[in-house]
Amino acid sequence: MRQKAVWVDEAVCIGCRYCAHVACNTFLVEPTWGRSRAIRQNGDSGDRIQEAIDTCPVDCIHWVTYEQLPALEAQLDQQEILPLGVPSPARLKRTLPRATAAIAAPVIQRS
Ligand code: SF4
Repeated sequence: MRQKAVWVDEAVCIGCRYCAHVACNTFLVEPTWGRSRAIRQNGDSGDRIQEAIDTCPVDCIHWVTYEQLPALEAQLDQQEILPLGVPSPARLKRTLPRATAAIAAPVIQRS
């Protein structure tokens, strides 16, 4: 067995499924929230898992020690997982306000 375990931070995962396509014996996208999860630790080679890690667009797959796994899994149970496509309330929705029609359209005077 490998010296390191693989773990997905499901609160960050965006459910793109790249990892599950690359290392299908390790990662599964769970059906409830659409996030990836490492379902077994010895399903794929270390190189293949590393390739899956490298394809993750949000860098949420991590190598951890086996001793860290129980605490990380317990932490996931405490995190709020939002449905995909719903913006996080902590994220700014818009940096600048929308442009209004009154600003964009000049007033033309006719005589
Ligand atoms: S590649 Fe990353 S973001 Fe995509 S499903 Fe896997 S863990 Fe989630």
